[in-house]
Amino acid sequence: ANANLFAHLRAAFPHDLDAIAVETDDRLHYSWRDLERASAMIANLLGALKLKAGARVAVQVEKSVEAMLLYLATLRAGYVFLPLNTAYQSAEIEYFIANAEPEVVVCSSANAPWVGPIAQKAGTRHVFTLDDDRSGTLLELAAQCSDEHAVVQRKPEDLAAILYTSGTTGRSKGAMLTHRNLLSNAEVLKDYWGWAQGDVLLHALPIFHVHGLFVAIHGALLNGSKMIWFSRFDPKRVVARLPDATVFMGVPTLYVRMLAEPLLGQRQCEDMRLFIAGSAPLLIETFQEWQQRTGHTILERYGMSETIMLTSNPYTSVQGARRGGTVGFPLPGVSLRVRAYDEHGEPRECPVDEIGNIEVSGPNVFAGYWRMPEKTKEEFTADGYFKTGDVGKIDGLGYVTIVGRSKDLIISGGYNVYPAEIEGYINEMPGVAESALVGVPHPDFGEVGVAVVVPKAGASLAADAIVAELKGKLANFKIPKRCYVVDELPRNTMGKVQKALLREQHKGLFG
Ligand code: ATP
Ligand code: MG
Repeated sequence: ANANLFAHLRAAFPHDLDAIAVETDDRLHYSWRDLERASAMIANLLGALKLKAGARVAVQVEKSVEAMLLYLATLRAGYVFLPLNTAYQSAEIEYFIANAEPEVVVCSSANAPWVGPIAQKAGTRHVFTLDDDRSGTLLELAAQCSDEHAVVQRKPEDLAAILYTSGTTGRSKGAMLTHRNLLSNAEVLKDYWGWAQGDVLLHALPIFHVHGLFVAIHGALLNGSKMIWFSRFDPKRVVARLPDATVFMGVPTLYVRMLAEPLLGQRQCEDMRLFIAGSAPLLIETFQEWQQRTGHTILERYGMSETIMLTSNPYTSVQGARRGGTVGFPLPGVSLRVRAYDEHGEPRECPVDEIGNIEVSGPNVFAGYWRMPEKTKEEFTADGYFKTGDVGKIDGLGYVTIVGRSKDLIISGGYNVYPAEIEGYINEMPGVAESALVGVPHPDFGEVGVAVVVPKAGASLAADAIVAELKGKLANFKIPKRCYVVDELPRNTMGKVQKALLREQHKGLFG
């Protein structure tokens, strides 16, 4: 059998290839036959380039159905897909292309004048353009290729994609994912989230990231489900199309923005089956407000570029309730543990409810960081578990809660301060929308916490009052030594708060 992920996705296409597979927001229709033929043509174009085995196809283009087809074609042709965030500018692109040494680079025609030379400098032989209006050299050349293509044979451990991490905690690393990683995870999710005939996915996420590219697209394709495709997220238009869909996936900020739409309500969500959130923590308030407004309980799940999905809140009530503030249970096949390390680096498994480092293993765990063998070795334990870098706990019923990242842990006067705990108290205060606590250097304590707080629309907050209120509730070492009220927290495109940036901004406060 062929372990190529595309072969498995293709096998799940419905019998009626003339049925609609993708409908864009501006009402373009793609049948399953269109996906089959167009991916074959692009795969034939790539095949004709006679690339080396394991060649990378790096892609920085605006979201479009054709960009997804390029992903499918790359799998199909047996090469390694390497998507790049559309926000990246020349310095970033230069780093990624020099690091990944792709044989093929596909970019927008607007960026070609600067991406082309960067690619050539790195030894890339083939540069194509692809725009979100179905123009560009890639499709022009593919149009001359045959629309029949036999899926290239791949082994389970062959690379299918390299996904650069979001760079929230430092420089992005390339996570190498195999066909087996991607397929095993997609199959587990199909089952766990109850994908069924008649499901329609509303796709409004970017496709350079694990969430929109793998979880969303594989989910729909492996179930032979139609997608309603938004090139960019527009809350008004997305809410308007909910009646035509059954499944929606979003990062927390998408939910917040949809809640600001007056049209969002029970009626609009009547035919929806499932709302899924992840990529960043979903505020409990958003979770509750969504329940009140729509009657639906958001299912929060947790994953990362290196592992795809790891945990999920339950789909059926037989398995348990969907609990806001938690990321649910380890998925079938995933082994997840929480460990603490002593000063000699000796590990110990944390008991129920104790906070520690989250470590995982399973068929979904990546093959290592691209060209970083040392880093890869550091991030795996002696018994083969991957150290996620996330800090969390497991409760008595088995629900996992993410408390933060090990890099965000603040050690103040020798005591551990978990930012999420303090943020939780601040967020409960009236008038507070959200907050972030970061550690900055301090001459006496080593590090101290600085709180950055965002008020709710129309509310006014006093930084001193926030600190005063915490003083009555928490031990002194947990109290932020400074507090700032700001309009918004710095976020990257996936909605992740950029704590590294906040640390950088405030690092000179005490020194
Ligand atoms: P880098 O590794 O470069 O610092 P990153 O970890 O943000 O960046 P991704 O792989 O895109 O890059 O994101 C994975 C991380 O996102 C997880 O390690 C976790 O910290 C966070 N995350 C994902 N889902 C959730 C969730 N439901 N709740 C809280 N955090 C989440
Ligand atoms: Mg990470």
